[in-house]
Formats: sequence, C-alpha cells, structure tokens
Amino acid sequence: MEKQNMQNRNPLKPIGAPSAALALFTCLAALLLAASPACAKIKVAASLTDLASIASYIGGDEVEVFSIAKANSNPHFVEVLPSYMIKVSRVAIYLKAGLALDQWADAIVEGSRNNKLDVVDCSGGVAVMDKPDGKVDASMGDVHPQGNPHYWLDPANGPVIAEHVREALTKADPGHAALFQANAKRFREESDKKRAEWQARLAPLQGTAVVTYHSSWVYFAKAYDLRIVGMVEPFPGIPPTAKHLQELVDRIKSQHAKILIQEPYYGDADPKFLERETGIKVYRFTPSCEGIGPGDFFKHFEDITSGLAKAGG
Ligand SMILES: [Zn+2]
Repeated sequence: MEKQNMQNRNPLKPIGAPSAALALFTCLAALLLAASPACAKIKVAASLTDLASIASYIGGDEVEVFSIAKANSNPHFVEVLPSYMIKVSRVAIYLKAGLALDQWADAIVEGSRNNKLDVVDCSGGVAVMDKPDGKVDASMGDVHPQGNPHYWLDPANGPVIAEHVREALTKADPGHAALFQANAKRFREESDKKRAEWQARLAPLQGTAVVTYHSSWVYFAKAYDLRIVGMVEPFPGIPPTAKHLQELVDRIKSQHAKILIQEPYYGDADPKFLERETGIKVYRFTPSCEGIGPGDFFKHFEDITSGLAKAGG
C-alpha cells in the first residue's frame, strides 16, 4: 500500500515527459540563440562597390553587403532590373552615392516596396566640386546637375562616407555601436596612413598636366595636385566633336600633357587618336573598386597611384 503510494507520489513520474520536452526546447532555443548572430546580420545594399566596401569595413561580421553597380560600369547609367528590387526588399540600409549620380537607385528603392528601408545619401558633408552657377542646360551636359558626383575618388572622402555608414549601422543595431565606432576609428587611421603613402608616391607628378575622358577625376586630381587641362568629353556625358578633339590636340601639345585617364567603358577611338597625334599616354582605371571586401576601397587607390607613378618615373 505504502509502496504504491510512494510510486503515485513520485514527482518525477507525471512530469517526466514534459520535462524532456522542456529540455529539448531549451536546447533548441540555445542553438537558435547561438546561431542568431549569423541570422541577425544587418543587410546593406549600396549603389557603388566603394560604398559597399566601406560598409564591409565598418560593419565587420555584423553586416551582409552587396553593390548594385559593378566596378567597371558607368555609374551614371545602371539598368534597373527587377532582381535588384527583390534584393533591396530584404535589406535594412541602402547606401546612395547622391548628387544625382545614381538616380536609378530611386527606381530600385521604390520598386523594392521596402517601407523599413533606411536610405542614406553618402554625399552629405562632402565639399562638392563643379557646382553649377546658374541654370543647368542639357546642352552643357546633363549628368552633373548638382555638381560633380565622383567624390569617392578623393580618398579623403572615405572617412566622410564611413561616418554615414557608422551612423546608419548604429541606428539599425545599437547593440553593436561600440564595434562600429571602433571600426570607423580604425578606418580613419588606416586612411590617414595610406593617404600619406599615396601622396608620397605621386609627389613627382605634382602640377603635371593631365587629360581625362569624363570629369570623374576632378576630386582625385585635386587630392594629388594634378592639373586637368582638358577632357575628351566637351561637357559631362556629351561625346566629343571632331572640332573639340582638334582643340584638345592643340591644348595637350601646348600644356605638355602626358597622361590621359580613361574609364574602360568608353570607346578607344578618340583616346587612340589623341595618343597618335600628341604622344599622350592613356591610363585605364575603373572608377570604382573591384571588390566589396573591407580593404577594397583602399586597394583601388593603391592600384591607381601605382599605375600613375610609372608616368612620373
Ligand atoms: Zn560623371
């Protein structure tokens, strides 16, 4: 009798099964929690690889980043594909270049129907060059209506972009504010160190006369004291006439320009003509960095400065 009572009162017996389920649940929950840092990564889309690379640097393991434009595509003209809208519908942050460069991004953002999306214009705080004085007329080129938007090609603007990224990431994930802060500080320090190296590397070219195809390189030229004496395009986005090219030949000769910087997506015919007529040497560089990893923004300048340094030697 007593033995049976003992059995009935055994507290383990009735709650045994639920207890096992609870243990399993706890275990699963722990597994889910352990896996959550990977699941909780902040998804970031960027118009340009340069902005994406900086986001990778500041966000570290806490972000998942992709870029819409490729390194060697003309950043003014990107085809708006439905697949981009689908990708952007799943991200928390969209990094725009701004200054009317990536107006195509607006269509992607709108098409994504992502109400929670934080759209960040990375050009805020940049000292904008070539701001139009008066009314912008299409005949004067219509791709730089708010001033020159190629600001990421001055590496000093890297930390400006990084600060926008840090702010947006902190807003999206305040728990990692200290990490983003530390990475932004590291980015500034690395940027200062590398900029001094690039400055030294291009010092022999200071004051050198150069020609560019499009006006993508005004920030870069200012940073390294290169003198842009002419452009293949008479106005941004406007192809050259024979008359303009002839005038450019005269200018290249009179200014002793030895370097022509051209993006790979422009045709070779006009630069080759100038090369033949004047002996100017064509250097081809993509306007954006190849990869979107943390070091790629810096590597791009490493490549450009190394490439151009050969002209000084
Ligand atoms: Zn442009």
